[in-house]
Amino acid sequence: MRRRILISGASIAGNTAAWWLSRFGHEVTVVERAPAFRDGGQNVDVRGVGREVLRRMGIDDIALKNGTTEEGTAWVNEDGSVAAQLVTEELGEDGPTAELEILRGDLARLIYKPASEQATYRFGDRIEAIDDRDRDVEVTYASGDTGTFDLVVVAEGVGSATRELVFPRENDPRWMDVTMAYFTIPRVASDDRMWRWYNATEGRSISLRPDNHGTTRANLTIQKPSQGEQDWDQELQKVFMRDRFADAGWQADRVLAGMEETDDFYFDVLRQVRMPRWSKGRVVLTGDVAWCATPLAGIGTTLAVTGAYVLAAELQRNSDVDAALRGYEAAMRPMVEEGQGVPKFGSKMMQPQSRLGIHLLHGVLSLATKPLVRSAVAKLTTRDSKAPDLSHYPGAGS
Ligand SMILES: Cc1cc2nc3c(=O)[nH]c(=O)nc-3n(C[C@H](O)[C@H](O)[C@H](O)COP(=O)(O)OP(=O)(O)OC[C@H]3O[C@@H](n4cnc5c(N)ncnc54)[C@H](O)[C@@H]3O)c2cc1C
Repeated sequence: MRRRILISGASIAGNTAAWWLSRFGHEVTVVERAPAFRDGGQNVDVRGVGREVLRRMGIDDIALKNGTTEEGTAWVNEDGSVAAQLVTEELGEDGPTAELEILRGDLARLIYKPASEQATYRFGDRIEAIDDRDRDVEVTYASGDTGTFDLVVVAEGVGSATRELVFPRENDPRWMDVTMAYFTIPRVASDDRMWRWYNATEGRSISLRPDNHGTTRANLTIQKPSQGEQDWDQELQKVFMRDRFADAGWQADRVLAGMEETDDFYFDVLRQVRMPRWSKGRVVLTGDVAWCATPLAGIGTTLAVTGAYVLAAELQRNSDVDAALRGYEAAMRPMVEEGQGVPKFGSKMMQPQSRLGIHLLHGVLSLATKPLVRSAVAKLTTRDSKAPDLSHYPGAGS
């Protein structure tokens, strides 16, 4: 059955949904508030069941070829010497660096390009009002245009306005007490192919990761409760980071200088999205807007591609939309709840307050690099054992 489907948000979840829904023969429109396709973003990884979805889309190999070439993770001291390291080749999918590490923008583009050959994209616009009339939904865009759809898929990420419009106050966020800024800086000769992670006192860390574009991806993290920084404008967010990291040591001066010049500053105060339901009438949520687990869980992109595929596949299997939406939620809830089960003390441990805490962390990490301890830790931190069974879902040719 050919349905008219509107998707709001053209990042990982929205483009994946557009890819599958148009392959399944639906008439798909995607609305994205940015004026053009968004290229930005830093390293994201795709693991386990998410890789299977990419395989079914025929893009797993090309995604691997477009990977960031990161070889593992090294925790470094102030003078740059290595305190502990985990090398991916020895770990398979279990370590912090996954086999498939790719820049968010590169992955989104790999999905967007083929999707845009079949779906219609409206950039620079957004949903302003939704009238769910049981059998269909009338949408009014900010531009004043209107459209009528059989289903609206909201894939607008963690701070979605449409979610608040349709499900007011239903999100009960779990704040993770972590603030992060990501941005790209010029590469220098001493940047190697490891993710280098430096801890400073007062819950601060700086990390540098290689990419496949000849630049270096920087991250500044602070362990502290939010004081509303997520709502500040970008200039104030940069001032905040500059003040906090001025005396951090290691490569802080270089990273802060790079932050001033960067054109892809991305700032986030981490919070999980906790929604009691993911659909209401003919409106359904997918990706971070529905269940953001935060980068601390390391599973956000895997969940986004998996959820968008499961939603499309359930709509393909069921002629009744309500049954499809129930099937989607039943298939995805266990994996999402497992993914969100990341303990808050984990990030506190990784961002200690004192010199003694950093010393202890490095000691624990060098122990965790020993093979036996490593596989026990990997088992404890697995977050996709409850992934949906994809074997009864259709592939692209169906
Ligand atoms: C530019 C960018 C950079 C990112 N960088 C990182 C990173 O460095 N590290 C990391 O771990 N995660 C990053 N993320 C988040 C990461 O992509 C997601 O956690 C994950 O992949 C799930 O993706 P998603 O599609 O559900 O949500 P998102 O990737 O957040 O995408 C949401 C999309 O919806 C659009 N949108 C939002 N509101 C509206 C609206 N009202 N109407 C229409 N469109 C709307 C946004 O512009 C965006 O394109 C980034 C996201 C973006 C958009």
